[in-house]
Amino acid sequence: MDSIKIITNATPDDEIPKAFQTIARGFIITAPCIICQHQLVTIANEYDLLEFLSNGDIKYRKVTFVNVLQEGLKLKLFVLDKKKKKLLRCTHTLNESTCNWVLTDLFQSKEQLLNDEHGMLMNNMTEKEADDKLLEFDFS
Ligand SMILES: [Zn+2]
Repeated sequence: MDSIKIITNATPDDEIPKAFQTIARGFIITAPCIICQHQLVTIANEYDLLEFLSNGDIKYRKVTFVNVLQEGLKLKLFVLDKKKKKLLRCTHTLNESTCNWVLTDLFQSKEQLLNDEHGMLMNNMTEKEADDKLLEFDFS
C-alpha cells in the first residue's frame, strides 16, 4: 500500500535559462542582437557593432569580441572598440525581443558580394563622437 512519490530533478520553471553556450574559442549566443553565422561569436575576432541612437542615427564601430557573461536576465557582452581602444559593455535583457545595438559578422562574411550595398550602408552610418550612453565602460 506504499505509494511511490516521484521526485524529479527537473529545473524549476522560474529558473533562468542560460543564453549562451561556451565552445572552444567562443560562444553560441542566443539573443536577437547577435546576428552572426550560427550565432557563433569567437574571442578576439572582429565584428561590426551597430548602435541605434534615439535620433534615428546608426553608430557603427569595428570591434573585437572579448567575453560574454550572464547575470540573471542581463546578458553582458564585452567588446573592444579598435579605433578608440576602449572596452565597451553591451547589455541585453533576455526577456526583451528588441535591442538598441546589434553585433554582426554579416558585413564581413559577405563583403565581396555586397560591395556596393555595403558601401552605401556605411555611408549612411555616422561615426561621430556621440556619447556612449548605452554602451559603457565599467570595471565593476
Ligand atoms: Zn539584445
